[in-house]
Amino acid sequence: MDSFDKIGLADQLNQALTACRFQKPTPVQRDSIPVILQGRDVLASAKTGTGKTASFVLPAMQQLLTGSRRGGKGPRVLILTPTRELASQVNAHIRDLGKYCRFTCGSVIGGMPYPPQIRLLQKKLDILVATPGRLMDHMENRRLDYSSLEIFVLDEADRMLDLGFINAITTIASSLPKKRQTLLFSATLEGKITVIADDLLRDPVRIQLTSNQNKHELIRQRVHHADDFLHKHRLLNSYLNESEVTQALIFTATKRGADRLSSLLMAQGHDTAPMHGDLPQNKRKKTMDRMKKGNLRILVATDVAARGLDIKGISHVINFDLPSVAEDYIHRIGRTGRAGENGIAVSLVTPDDWGKLRDIERLTGRTVERSVIPGLEPVKAVPNLKQAGRGAPPPNRRRRRSGSRMRF
Ligand code: ADP
Ligand code: MG
Repeated sequence: MDSFDKIGLADQLNQALTACRFQKPTPVQRDSIPVILQGRDVLASAKTGTGKTASFVLPAMQQLLTGSRRGGKGPRVLILTPTRELASQVNAHIRDLGKYCRFTCGSVIGGMPYPPQIRLLQKKLDILVATPGRLMDHMENRRLDYSSLEIFVLDEADRMLDLGFINAITTIASSLPKKRQTLLFSATLEGKITVIADDLLRDPVRIQLTSNQNKHELIRQRVHHADDFLHKHRLLNSYLNESEVTQALIFTATKRGADRLSSLLMAQGHDTAPMHGDLPQNKRKKTMDRMKKGNLRILVATDVAARGLDIKGISHVINFDLPSVAEDYIHRIGRTGRAGENGIAVSLVTPDDWGKLRDIERLTGRTVERSVIPGLEPVKAVPNLKQAGRGAPPPNRRRRRSGSRMRF
């Protein structure tokens, strides 16, 4: 199917496509629109900018035009998006593609005044675009009637999970009618996405136009084998003393570990702060602001605290401890290489971590390049990984460490 005509959309939608100068469907539109029109649940991943929005907006509109309202005045289509900005992009698509239809649409998004949203929810609605937090707010005040809901869309689902909306999403989904169509769109289908997909979608058609392998292509990944904790410190210091590290995000396994490492680095004269769930909110916010403005060079964080962090200046993500769940590795390294910049992800791996490293390489389907810093080679034997090829482990050099001694 390489033209919109063949999909069998209503005339009003075809006219709008012409007006938008959408001449032919993008791959994700080509694969998903026909199955959505058949009423199937869909789990789709395709890179950013490949036209995912119209992939659900067009068939949802077709459904609005051809079906009829079954319950009360609440929305027939609910679209969840992670942020206000993404909600307004979806709204722009709805406006453009629905310009020859008479749909009533609206949005309830965070950071905007309540009264217009409350008024909107009292009216009869066809399409509602919402961010999860604000929608939950309205739901708690019993302002939502889901009795007419037919289609539930999770847009940019990976970002929503990154921003910590998993509980909100499951609560919202559990308030919706069981008999509905659920569509999940995401740039990636990794980790927790598969968990919520299993939970929320019924026998979905899976459309995958990305793979774990080609994600993070702007991020150069390296592993340094280390003998022990002190050796990791020396390796870390050797990185932090380099000027190419503009901003670094260092991950530790525990909150105490983050505090400890941050204090140690501070004592060595590095500009650093810890970030974890036990710190008061105002302190976390201050630290984040400093990081965003580029006034802080090194952040030592736990996984939870770093979720959804989007800071352009992070040149290096350093796994001082490897994550115990392999998927978290992908989330962590995604904190660098933002906005088209190149990034470097470094993992410091002691013999205790070899199992975790193997899980990560299995998940991402690639062997991470092994690196050594002259003078800081590991003394202990390193494993000869079977899947080695590109980026094979370095030969085990039983040499005495020399030079670059750090004070601890
Ligand atoms: P995604 O959600 O995958 O990141 P969007 O849905 O926001 O991508 O679409 C990205 C851009 O591509 C938008 O500007 C949109 O108007 C445009 N676009 C979408 N579908 C088509 C198409 N079939 N032909 C031409 N442009 C399209
Ligand atoms: Mg999108």
